[in-house]
Amino acid sequence: MNPTITFLGGAGTVTGSKYLVRAAGRQMLLECGLFQGLKPLRLRNWDRPPFDPRAVDAVLLSHAHLDHSGYLPILARNGFRGPIHCTPATASLLPIVLRDAAHIQDEDTRRANQHGYTKHHPALPLFSAADVEHVLPLLQVHAYGERYPVANTFHARFGRAGHILGSATIDLEIEANPAVRLVYSGDLGRWGRPILRDPEFATLADVLLIESTYGGRVHAGTPAERLATIITETARRGGVVIIPSFAIGRTQELIWTIRALEDAGRLPTVSVFIDSPMAIDVTDIYCRHPEDHDIDMTALMDQKRCPLCCRQYHLVRTAEESKALANRRDPMIIIAGSGMATGGRVLHHLKRCLPDHRNTVLLPGFQAAGTRGRALQNGARTIRIHGQDVSVRARVETIDGLSAHADRTELLRWLRGFSRPPARTYIVHGEPEGADALAAAIQSELGWTAVVAEDGATVPLG
Ligand code: ZN
Repeated sequence: MNPTITFLGGAGTVTGSKYLVRAAGRQMLLECGLFQGLKPLRLRNWDRPPFDPRAVDAVLLSHAHLDHSGYLPILARNGFRGPIHCTPATASLLPIVLRDAAHIQDEDTRRANQHGYTKHHPALPLFSAADVEHVLPLLQVHAYGERYPVANTFHARFGRAGHILGSATIDLEIEANPAVRLVYSGDLGRWGRPILRDPEFATLADVLLIESTYGGRVHAGTPAERLATIITETARRGGVVIIPSFAIGRTQELIWTIRALEDAGRLPTVSVFIDSPMAIDVTDIYCRHPEDHDIDMTALMDQKRCPLCCRQYHLVRTAEESKALANRRDPMIIIAGSGMATGGRVLHHLKRCLPDHRNTVLLPGFQAAGTRGRALQNGARTIRIHGQDVSVRARVETIDGLSAHADRTELLRWLRGFSRPPARTYIVHGEPEGADALAAAIQSELGWTAVVAEDGATVPLG
């Protein structure tokens, strides 16, 4: 039988990535992601998996984001016992990411049961902390560049993707008849960004899967200049800068950029508060994986000072410490989750700070439809937080250019690294708009044919 791949999520959407590869009687999953976002998508996490988890021989993960890894606890609960291959930094991040996800589901379930807003009695979490603990012993780590065997039928190798710490592209050799070389981009990062090394090029593939999150967009330039202006002006007014931020990647890049501006004498020294236990833990892991660091980060680490730290730097772990920030009267920067102000500690700060014109809410990048972040971006005069209407008098600014995803230009740059066009190119991990735009760009700029992967479809690899 010809080797095949089945797109089970991460096709037509940016979440739920799961690509099932079958060859020579073996099966393996590229990615094991959770569906996120709008309700019809999230409900798919509750469906029976369209394959037998006990029959899956191995999982290969490109990185630790939940939309690529968050289905692992459900897979393990349903009988999967094989190895989960990933890079060392991904293995360090996964316990934090999966335990945090289990905790949030636990809280949501408890709230649903308390207030009775559930059709299920009682409401159940998608997975539990116990399910997560079944996943962690299955992790097997491999350095970038190491070629390792998988399930007697495959050899795999991770390359640098430059997206978040530990992120990888995957080069998969399938020893079937015919032999096939599959390259998967994972989530591709960007060139010349702080902290992480640039993406590495892949040169040969028979079949290529490429992500298309920003296949239809070109990012704005470097955000440091605007960040300096916004922080300086807010501090001069005696105000607070509140930055809703994701714990992985974006928070570390913000810390780096603020510190670099401080060192260049371009910012007044103001207190910076990282109000998120998860972001604090993740930042620590960023410092402990030198194999991922770029040349500047390495140089600073060699000077024995952690570059992921500002001049007046405060880590806020407990809820009490977080609440106590309300009593401070000095200008400051608060970085807190969640990244689009859909929940988390940032809501308390927004409730307090939005009505005061001296303050600034700084939105670092894309805000999805339906989120408070998007409403603020669209100029809403009031925002509903914890059942109250809060008036918006603070300045609201969006900074582009902090995305961890390659834009269309950068995706094409990576594709130009191939020495000849792959026989087949499938576009995955994108909304239809981004996927179609990338397909068109590949055709017009590179002269290759690329097909947008269809959700649920099985296609031959040989
Ligand atoms: Zn990602």
